[in-house]
Amino acid sequence: MSHTNNSLTHRLKDGALRRDFPIFRTNSRDNGLIYLDSGASAQKPHSVLTSIQDFYDSAYANIHRGVYQLSEEATLRYEGGRERVRRFLNARRVEEIVFVRGTTEAINLLASTFGRSKVGPGDEILITHMEHHSNIVPWQMLCQSTGAHLVVVPITDDGALDLEEFERLLGPRTKLVSVAHVSNALGTINPVKEIVRLAHDKGVPVVIDGAQAVPHLPVDVQDLDCDFYVFSGHKIYGPTGIGALYGKAGHLAAMPPYQGGGDMIESVTFDKTTYAPVPARFEAGTPNIAGVVGLTAALDYVDAVGFEAIQEHGEDLLEHGTRLLEEIPGLRIVGTAARKVPVFSFVLDDIHPHDVGTFLAGANVAVRAGHHCAQPVMERFGVPATTRASLGIYNTREDLQALVDAILQLRRFFGK
Ligand code: PMP
Repeated sequence: MSHTNNSLTHRLKDGALRRDFPIFRTNSRDNGLIYLDSGASAQKPHSVLTSIQDFYDSAYANIHRGVYQLSEEATLRYEGGRERVRRFLNARRVEEIVFVRGTTEAINLLASTFGRSKVGPGDEILITHMEHHSNIVPWQMLCQSTGAHLVVVPITDDGALDLEEFERLLGPRTKLVSVAHVSNALGTINPVKEIVRLAHDKGVPVVIDGAQAVPHLPVDVQDLDCDFYVFSGHKIYGPTGIGALYGKAGHLAAMPPYQGGGDMIESVTFDKTTYAPVPARFEAGTPNIAGVVGLTAALDYVDAVGFEAIQEHGEDLLEHGTRLLEEIPGLRIVGTAARKVPVFSFVLDDIHPHDVGTFLAGANVAVRAGHHCAQPVMERFGVPATTRASLGIYNTREDLQALVDAILQLRRFFGK
């Protein structure tokens, strides 16, 4: 990368980071795209795209099995990526990082292995009312097959977790807690360190869904003391199809495999197979090698910008955006917790969120309209859907102004 850390930090503050992302250019000119859907998936900086191209150009082969140089090089990059993720999460050991397709696969892996070994009939799995479907359905499936129950911690009217209720519901039958670090539909930041402490006081392990947290907040799994932490590469400016699962070494070592196949075995006969040690035990088949290379470049990029600056920028956008949106008559922000990332879910008069989204698309403002894979959140707030603007490091106050201008135009269009 040609910039120093310092210059990337400055470019964030100057609103110039956008130029690092080719999607915002057409024939080398800014195309005016206002991208406010980073919560669904973030755009990719040039360095991520070139890292993947370079890898295929110069170092590509399958990993862990070649005796020739290219395979060794590819293996080095893949395993280097594991070390990169370890450092990103401040995990103690590199073996604690398992590569997966993304958050959804990570949670399914945990439900099928760790979860299955922990819960039985009558046991309880504690989640919250603000979870993404990916942190509901795998546990529900586990409950169906084991006779365990899902217990749901309620949320307050502003979209924060009800911590007192969490403590109350954490009972003698609770065998596992799984909670979002940050809610995708509301933007709420949950007090995950406190949640882990309360759960551990009762001997209950905690899974944290970090999909929406990693692009906004620094994460230190040793400090959090969580048992598992999972995230997706594509939300943190990396490629799709790659993500990571952190698990404490003791848990991973005790877990049965998830999928069977190549790379996860030690020896195979028709009578019996023995499994490889972690993390290979959980990485059956040829993995997304280029995805790991791209994820490595994404984490390098984000760390070079720096989380201090990213958080400061996010807080400024959150504050500014909240102020602007609250001034619009007939607009209600859904999710106004004290601790939030720059995500604005809103409803507008009686205009359907899909109409809002379509109108905004016509103004080159890309937002998401729908239930955001969090239908229970919609039900909690009594709305069928919301329009959601979710921001990333390339967004600026001008983008928020463009959003507001388009909403005002839309209101006029509807005669409001
Ligand atoms: N959890 C949360 C909080 C999310 O926002 C998402 C993605 N919208 C997921 C899980 C699922 O992530 P993925 O689709 O990358 O598996």
